[in-house]
Amino acid sequence: MKQYINCSLKPYHTFGMEVTAYRLVEYETIEELRDLLHRVRTEWSGKPWLHIGGGSNLLFIGNFFPGVVLHSSLLGLEVVQENDQEVLLRVGSGMVWDDLVAYCVDQGWGGMENLSAIPGEVGASAVQNIGAYGREVKDLIVSVETLAVDTGERCRFSCEDCNYGYRSSIFKKQLRGQHIVTHVTYRLQKNPTFYLDYGNIRTELADRPVTLKSVRDAVMSIRQAKLPDPAELGNAGSFFVNPVVDKCVFERICAEYPNMPYYEVDESHVKIPAGWLIEQSGWKGRSLGRAAVHDKQALVLINTGNATGGEVMTLARTIQREIRERFGIDIQPEVNVIQCYTTDFDVNINVNFGE
Ligand SMILES: Cc1cc2nc3c(=O)[nH]c(=O)nc-3n(C[C@H](O)[C@H](O)[C@H](O)COP(=O)(O)OP(=O)(O)OC[C@H]3O[C@@H](n4cnc5c(N)ncnc54)[C@H](O)[C@@H]3O)c2cc1C
Repeated sequence: MKQYINCSLKPYHTFGMEVTAYRLVEYETIEELRDLLHRVRTEWSGKPWLHIGGGSNLLFIGNFFPGVVLHSSLLGLEVVQENDQEVLLRVGSGMVWDDLVAYCVDQGWGGMENLSAIPGEVGASAVQNIGAYGREVKDLIVSVETLAVDTGERCRFSCEDCNYGYRSSIFKKQLRGQHIVTHVTYRLQKNPTFYLDYGNIRTELADRPVTLKSVRDAVMSIRQAKLPDPAELGNAGSFFVNPVVDKCVFERICAEYPNMPYYEVDESHVKIPAGWLIEQSGWKGRSLGRAAVHDKQALVLINTGNATGGEVMTLARTIQREIRERFGIDIQPEVNVIQCYTTDFDVNINVNFGE
């Protein structure tokens, strides 16, 4: 176990803000995590705590987190079942997601290739239900193992138990803050089915033969061309989730904007790309203070250099308000907003696990 006091979180999240945590602990075993959760309930009770992964979906408001930040170093992967068709792979929550994708592609196991180059770790993949290019990780998850925060008990959730929805799960909603993911078991295919009809995958592949490797390469190159690299420009990927609206709302907007892109969700609901709404509101490429909307991808808010979390939040709220006024739609953040202290002036400590 590694423990740091007054630790800068700048290398631990992708928005690039200056934030200090009173305590950061990286645990390496389930027993260490159980012991830490015991301390959270006893010695550290009353102080805020937070579990992070790669910090690629976090926005810190304020610059001092006065409690403990936990991070998993549970690594390792094992094949728990295998036949001619498929492999069940159990993976530690601290493994970097894209390292796992690269490993599976190298082994010739299909399923994750469209999810290449998504930042973050295995634990959060199961919390966030990450998705890209027509695939979601819920399509691969067999089960999720956790430790219950209140008891330290080991629990196992089947994929159905996780209540997966678009960028959501039971761990983000009903059981928010109540479980720490320790392992995820994924099902991978030895004779993969390829999903090429989303985004520009086919165009990017051009004449190359369709293999796991070529699809992964195509996805990586499309992403690289349109998404800012957090190492150069702080961001947390898509800042907002795409709103799902009633058909009547959709028809009202469509009458004014007949070219509006959309996806049918079911008979009475339609999903509208939040990036399109932001673009129509004239925010693409614009900045407010040191926060800005990316000029290639309107759904991504960026830290143009030394922006505070508050500046990013002000930009986000301004965009939300303008979209509400113009289209009558509420767009909600996908990022997990973490409220901390601002050391310049007193604010309430309110650890908000998102939404
Ligand atoms: C450039 C860029 C591109 C992106 N593209 C995509 C994309 O295409 N698709 C997509 O879905 N997302 C995308 N994202 C968002 C992000 O990569 C995902 O949400 C990712 O799953 C976050 O993982 P993380 O390990 O960084 O988690 P963090 O951001 O650290 O945490 C996210 C949430 O998970 C919780 N959490 C973390 N680990 C655990 C654990 N072990 N147990 C319980 N809770 C835990 C945290 O408390 C927090 O609520 C992108 C982000 C960036 C910066």
